[in-house]
Amino acid sequence: MINNMPNVKVLMARCSSTGESFGVRLEEVTPGAWLADWAFHIKDAQARKEGYHENVVTGEFGFASKYPGCPHCGRDSLVRCRCEEITCWDGDSRNVSCPSCGRKGKIGTPVTKLKTDIDR
Ligand SMILES: [Zn+2]
Ligand SMILES: [Zn+2]
Repeated sequence: MINNMPNVKVLMARCSSTGESFGVRLEEVTPGAWLADWAFHIKDAQARKEGYHENVVTGEFGFASKYPGCPHCGRDSLVRCRCEEITCWDGDSRNVSCPSCGRKGKIGTPVTKLKTDIDR
């Protein structure tokens, strides 16, 4: 009988337009392969209480077709800055500025490892 609880994690991200936080729900669809399927408003204080800032996801990473995009600006992809901040991304722009550390950078490889570290 197959009755696995889905392995779900929530990571914290930040909107590159407004700088506001949001949560991203990820589900491990096959071992080591994660799909983002939901994004939602959440306050930093509440996220801290839930421990979302400590969540780490490693493996392959993609987006479900139902992923709604950033709840603040609608961009439907994500990138991770070298400062570890995850930021919404339109999936297209070559240049992104990080709302956390202010670094402007080029997008390199797709996000394959996500980790959150807003509090630093
Ligand atoms: Zn956004
Ligand atoms: Zn940064």
